[in-house]
Amino acid sequence: MSIMQFNTLALSPVLLETIAQLGFKQMTEVQAQSLPLILDQQDVIAQAKTGSGKTLAFALGVLSKLDVSSMHVQGLVLCPTRELADQVATEIRKLASGTANVKILTLCGGVPIGPQISSLEHGAHIIVGTPGRIEDHLFKGTLDLTQVNTLVLDEADQMLDMGFTDAIENIVAYLPPERQSLLFSATYPKNIESLSVQLMRNPQQVKVEEVG
Ligand code: ADP
Ligand code: MG
Repeated sequence: MSIMQFNTLALSPVLLETIAQLGFKQMTEVQAQSLPLILDQQDVIAQAKTGSGKTLAFALGVLSKLDVSSMHVQGLVLCPTRELADQVATEIRKLASGTANVKILTLCGGVPIGPQISSLEHGAHIIVGTPGRIEDHLFKGTLDLTQVNTLVLDEADQMLDMGFTDAIENIVAYLPPERQSLLFSATYPKNIESLSVQLMRNPQQVKVEEVG
């Protein structure tokens, strides 16, 4: 069982302490299978049902290589809806609470773009948002993603169902090719496979079977 302990991972003492403070004692199955690969900087496709703790897995991937002294965007998390983006940002903020001044911005549609542009002018380390609005910012030139080291596609199956394939492809064109790409999904339909071939490098697959 010891391989389920967070302290078997190559994480900073600050992150391990925050995880303990949040009350997480053991890794979930998808975390235990994906985190060693993620922290080894590999591209990972992880499939596990809703509620299995996928957010923590990719959040640690982003936070473990964050350089707070640089005000460039380093992590980009794409989510299907505003509600999911807000949830993910909240969870990343909790995990980042041990480090001062980590700036996480959500960029979603359905609200005026002006205030988002003003916030971006002050800089951000991590962007969580929906593909359409992220694309709008890129087309307008109000978002610089040239220093992103981690791309996360969260709930990828849902994003493709909602017709975000073109937006995702457009966004990826603005990212450095030298980056880690992480794809999380509850299911793994064929269209995700073709998307992953386009935007990932030698992705390692993790699949947690439903129990019971
Ligand atoms: P998913 O994205 O797979 O649907 P979430 O990342 O939203 O799942 O996590 C579901 C719940 O499990 C959240 O409330 C989260 O805080 C909690 N959780 C995550 N990791 C652990 C863990 N290692 N131990 C206990 N609870 C956890
Ligand atoms: Mg999730």
